[in-house]
Amino acid sequence: MKKRTVAALAGAGALTAANAVRAALFVPEKKDWGTSEPENINVEKALEHISGAIQIKTVSNPDKSKVDFGEFDKFHKFLEESYPLIHKTMKKEIVNEASLMYYWKGTNPDLEPMAMLSHQDVVPIEEGTEGDWAHPPFSGYNDGEFIWGRGALDMKNHLICVMEAIETLLAEGFTPERDVYLCFGQDEEVVASGDSGARAMMEIFKERGIHLDSVVDEGGAVIDLDIPGVIKGKKLIGVGIAEKGYTDVKISVHSNGGHSSQPPKHSAIGELADVVKDLENHQFKSELMPFISELFSGIGRNCSYPARLVTCNIPFMKPLIKQIMKQIPPAACLVRTTTAVTMTEGSPAANVLAQNASITVNFRQMPGTTVADLEKHIRKVVRNKDISVEILKQKEASKFSPTDTRPFRVMEKICKQQNPDSFVAPYLVMGGTDACYYEPVCDNIYRYSPFNVTIEELRCTHNTNERLPVKTVEEAITFFIRWVRRASSQEDA
Ligand SMILES: [Zn+2]
Repeated sequence: MKKRTVAALAGAGALTAANAVRAALFVPEKKDWGTSEPENINVEKALEHISGAIQIKTVSNPDKSKVDFGEFDKFHKFLEESYPLIHKTMKKEIVNEASLMYYWKGTNPDLEPMAMLSHQDVVPIEEGTEGDWAHPPFSGYNDGEFIWGRGALDMKNHLICVMEAIETLLAEGFTPERDVYLCFGQDEEVVASGDSGARAMMEIFKERGIHLDSVVDEGGAVIDLDIPGVIKGKKLIGVGIAEKGYTDVKISVHSNGGHSSQPPKHSAIGELADVVKDLENHQFKSELMPFISELFSGIGRNCSYPARLVTCNIPFMKPLIKQIMKQIPPAACLVRTTTAVTMTEGSPAANVLAQNASITVNFRQMPGTTVADLEKHIRKVVRNKDISVEILKQKEASKFSPTDTRPFRVMEKICKQQNPDSFVAPYLVMGGTDACYYEPVCDNIYRYSPFNVTIEELRCTHNTNERLPVKTVEEAITFFIRWVRRASSQEDA
């Protein structure tokens, strides 16, 4: 064998050995999270309450005159009857028309209060799809495995489990150290609603000079990770620490119009086609934010041994990961502001040339990209400088909440005690939540729903056959009980 070949083989051998060692050491950090006594929960009652809550049709609508506030009144009555201790102990305020704000006085006024959010409203059932449901969408039917209906996952489940947790704590005689607020909005599903219940409740905190220690709202969940040969028996607990923005922009091109029998070389719609291409060909710059690396590293460390021979190199493969993610739409949205041309409008008749042709583009901004940046981007990448740009709807992206905080550590500890085979990963929420409105009064905003669901079940949110697995209800209430107990104290993990 030639000397050079021997040297190359020896080098390759050393690299392989180094990789094997790295893979062996690429495991989750070992930490003793301790254990907690089981909680005393009446699961049957909770299931009945979730079913009952789903049966009340608290559907929101961008047009307030179309909202049946009678259903919200019914829902408030239902809560009053179901949770007598809460209604005896906590002070209740109705904000805007139907948002609910509960206040529980703590024993130590020197500590900042904490807030737990939910929204009461649900999205409507798409007309004509009612019959596609396995059980009617407002039945709240419990077949022993699932509770079916609109709001089963988004998010009557969460709201009711928070109420169950607090009613349980009150029955035990617990009093929090910090003040505890429950803020249940009425219109979260109406995107970028200017006068939303959540914004009104935040304004109340602001007026009263209250800064919150923590806010917890819907967001991530407990997801089983089972990929044969790669990862087994592990759970991913996603805690949303930020959310993307939402902006609808109308871009119009104007022309002389006229009779379609004498068309110019390019009509307004022809000009508009170039605008669409310019936008789609010039996507926003992608960026692998630290939370993505943490997420991949978390998944990688929890993979089984042969798979770790590959995943242990993830920290060195960032540029490659970014390139791959950019090509896959569900992954691309995690690394850049997305551009989706969703609607077009031209002339009102087939024989009329459009005087005004327009597209509507839905952008979802990454944290750090503002609505003003979007406008700048449009003006820069579209070659046609005669376009008009109109912002129809806007909601800025949130900030990132820090994870080196006491509330985050407490949350992680509760999760790890409940699911020792899990890893807690901060992530970016793609949709919107009410939580972002609370930024002026809170720095530690975490979006987490402690329900163990499959990806398939999650896909039913806002969709046909939305359903909640019955077996996850007890762990969710357990989480909220421990969250109130520990987050309201000065405990650190
Ligand atoms: Zn929701």
